[in-house]
Amino acid sequence: MKIEAIQPMTVVEDILCDICGSSVVPRDYKEHIDNLNGFRAYAKLHASFGYGSTRDGEEFNFDFCEDCFDAVTARIEELKSIHASKR
Ligand SMILES: [Zn+2]
Repeated sequence: MKIEAIQPMTVVEDILCDICGSSVVPRDYKEHIDNLNGFRAYAKLHASFGYGSTRDGEEFNFDFCEDCFDAVTARIEELKSIHASKR
C-alpha cells in the first residue's frame, strides 16, 4: 500500500548571469521544460579556499552567460600574457 502526500517542491525557474543579469538558459530550452533543476549546460566558477590560505573558509560561486564567459576567459588570457611577458 502506498501512502501518498502532496508536498511543495522547490524548482529552479531561471539562472541569471552574475555579471550582466541575463538568463544563462537558451529561450528554446526554457519553452520545452517544466523546470531547470537539472540544467547544467552553462559556465560556472567555483572557488573554495582552505586552511593556510589568506581566504581560509571563503567560498565563491558565480554563474555566467556565454557572452560574459567569453569576456572572463578573454581577461584570463590577457592576464596570462601579462605574466608571461614578465618572465
Ligand atoms: Zn552575462
